[in-house]
Amino acid sequence: MTPDTGELAFLPLGGTGEIGMNLNLYRWRDGRDESFIAIDCGIGFGGSELPEVDVMMADPGFIADRREDLLGLVITHAHEDHIGAVAWLWPRLQCPVWCTPFAAAVLKRKLQETGLTNKVRINVIAPGGAFDIGPFGLQFIRLAHSIPEAQALAIDTPAGLVLHTGDWKLDAKPLVGPPTDEAALTALGDRGVLAMVCDSTNAMVEGHSGSEHDVRDSLGALIRGLRGRVAVTCFASNIARIESIALAARDAGRSVAVVGRSLRNMDTAARECGYLRSLPPFLTEDDLDDVPDDNLLILVTGSQGEARSALARIGRDEHPRLSLGEGDTIIFSSRMIPGNERAIGTMQDNLVRRGVRLMTDADHLVHVSGHPARDELRRIYRMVRPRFAVPVHGEWRHLSAHAELAREAGAEPFLLEDGDIITLGPGRPAITDSAPTGRLVLDGTRLVPLKGEVMNARRRILFNGVVIGSVAIDQSGMLRGRPAVSAPGLLDAEDDVAERVAEDFEDALRDLPIGVRRDEGAFKEAARSALRRALGRLYGKRPLVDVHLLRV
Ligand SMILES: [Zn+2]
Repeated sequence: MTPDTGELAFLPLGGTGEIGMNLNLYRWRDGRDESFIAIDCGIGFGGSELPEVDVMMADPGFIADRREDLLGLVITHAHEDHIGAVAWLWPRLQCPVWCTPFAAAVLKRKLQETGLTNKVRINVIAPGGAFDIGPFGLQFIRLAHSIPEAQALAIDTPAGLVLHTGDWKLDAKPLVGPPTDEAALTALGDRGVLAMVCDSTNAMVEGHSGSEHDVRDSLGALIRGLRGRVAVTCFASNIARIESIALAARDAGRSVAVVGRSLRNMDTAARECGYLRSLPPFLTEDDLDDVPDDNLLILVTGSQGEARSALARIGRDEHPRLSLGEGDTIIFSSRMIPGNERAIGTMQDNLVRRGVRLMTDADHLVHVSGHPARDELRRIYRMVRPRFAVPVHGEWRHLSAHAELAREAGAEPFLLEDGDIITLGPGRPAITDSAPTGRLVLDGTRLVPLKGEVMNARRRILFNGVVIGSVAIDQSGMLRGRPAVSAPGLLDAEDDVAERVAEDFEDALRDLPIGVRRDEGAFKEAARSALRRALGRLYGKRPLVDVHLLRV
């Protein structure tokens, strides 16, 4: 292949224009042959904006339709917004996966939960390792982030070299794993980088993200000075932070107990991969009562206020094994993910009401971000020196702040939204086409489109309720007996209002003209609008209405 016979394109199906749900594609096209690789496959959360949604992900329809041409999925790191959708979307993609040992350990556990353990081929690549997928020559580059083994991906094609950074920061002392491999990034720059597709999360934050090492020192000093029970919550995948908390506990003469499933899973995955080995095994919920308060530190899940998390349950005093109160302290070694402020606030109110003392990143150095602030972004542009910049992983304001910084750093930026297809080379990059995008919601154990019929009905039911009328009619369309009306979430079955609605409904049905009665479709429609009117008159609501017609 020579550069003038092929063309390289990038297209994000998720994660660009809104945080989370990363799903990126690179396409190599040579004549009529197309080859794709996917990078990352993550989930996002509904939050307060979409209360009917718990977990959602990018709709992979575009690439699922072309899955014979999808040669592989590369995972940059094991954060949920990069790896969380693999176990759900893989049946539609059915391609081999490449990732580091730690990401593989996390992924295997997830695949087990969805029964895919032996179906997915996982190629484990050491951090910094090189591998080929079809026409794509790939190399992992080690980065510091807030999880072990985060990797950027250098993508070598005849049309040029692209750096897909994934999530990263610069930290001289990341504590777990090596610092960002600046020599490798500079070497790429020396070779000449066509385009850099780069993290925008903190593109509006001036300065530097700060070092994990400083958090370790600060946590050590804080925890040494505390009496009573101490609980610390942090992101479960931040293994360096967990190590810092455990070391601070050790120095303060406290044993560490872990409470919450995601922390236990991450602890297991980390130890499998050789991390945290200098620490004794953590205690469990069963051991809590055996340790005096002043000698106990509890690592607990729920930093984002998730209603079912251990910490939220402790706040409501509903946890079966653990309660906190007067004289106890909770350290939030985490940030508030946008959208979760309310849930976190409610939980913190509950805890304070119980007499618990709170420490957060607003008043103590207990957290640093895993994403690059503007000084770090400027530095990576100096190392990599890309001709073109494609900001990803951020909302629109972050992408555009990043684009401006890239221009100042000498790269020409291109702003994309999910579904835009940008041809990167040869020739000047241009957005040449678009792919359909959407979101899928995980509803129990199945996936349904966010904008589809099921979720539309769910939203309507959530805000306006549902009414179901049951009507028995004979062959000529005359009523047999009284219609029944039920409206859970709207009418109290005991209430005489329900009775009145049923009466109004019956009266309306008895008035239907003969022509309508004979036509089942028309009867149903007329019955639905009669029921809607009967309800609307009472409450001024527009519930979801359905009628069951039983011909006897
Ligand atoms: Zn990440």
